[in-house]
Amino acid sequence: MIVDHIKHVFSGIKVIFFPELCVACGRKLVAGENMLCTACRVDMPLTGDHKGDNSHLRERFANHFDPVWAVSFFYYVHGSRHSRIILNIKFRGCASAAVGMGRLFGRYLAEECPQMCRADMLVPLPLSRERMMVRGFNQSELIARGMGGQMGLDVETRAVARVRYGNAQSRTRSRMERLCNVDRAFAVVRPELLKGRHIILVDDVVTTGSTLTSCAKAILEAVPDCRISIAALASTPKRGYRN
Ligand SMILES: [Zn+2]
Repeated sequence: MIVDHIKHVFSGIKVIFFPELCVACGRKLVAGENMLCTACRVDMPLTGDHKGDNSHLRERFANHFDPVWAVSFFYYVHGSRHSRIILNIKFRGCASAAVGMGRLFGRYLAEECPQMCRADMLVPLPLSRERMMVRGFNQSELIARGMGGQMGLDVETRAVARVRYGNAQSRTRSRMERLCNVDRAFAVVRPELLKGRHIILVDDVVTTGSTLTSCAKAILEAVPDCRISIAALASTPKRGYRN
């Protein structure tokens, strides 16, 4: 009882001195809100990838491999309010937002696309050791950990490794250059963990899909009977999309 009271007082003090902010719009959160304010949660530009022919993302991989599922949670539109969720996770070191958004995404998939929960495991896209040293965490792994709890799936980080990094990808120009850049960037170090399994590759944001393609190709080369789905927190929309 006393412990609860002390906890309550301290959480009140924390709110006064360190108010939690919405990871999208930056406004102070009020009681009952968690990570996102009510307006940003209601306005989330959901992709609905799991509905219909599932083609919004699938076609980005079409020439390379055929994912069982290819889904993303919301649209990443450069400069939009919701794009800040990804920027906060990726460039401002907001690890708790990565886990929290993963939880939201996992809960959404468990409700909207429960078939995906029948996969065998979540495999986050690995980061190179150098990138890990700079960022301090692998955002895809934290997203996957948040998702795993909601979907009842384990997160497997031992199977695939990042073996080298090309030039900073944002500076490259064409899709072809990106494909070359990430080619041979991944290696399967524990193929036995993936043999005969259906895995969900987890990434933060999909643009051209070249990084996920490179990882999936490395996996299928080493473990041809592995089935692969894709789940990304966000994806860039097709041309002509209006929010
Ligand atoms: Zn907000």
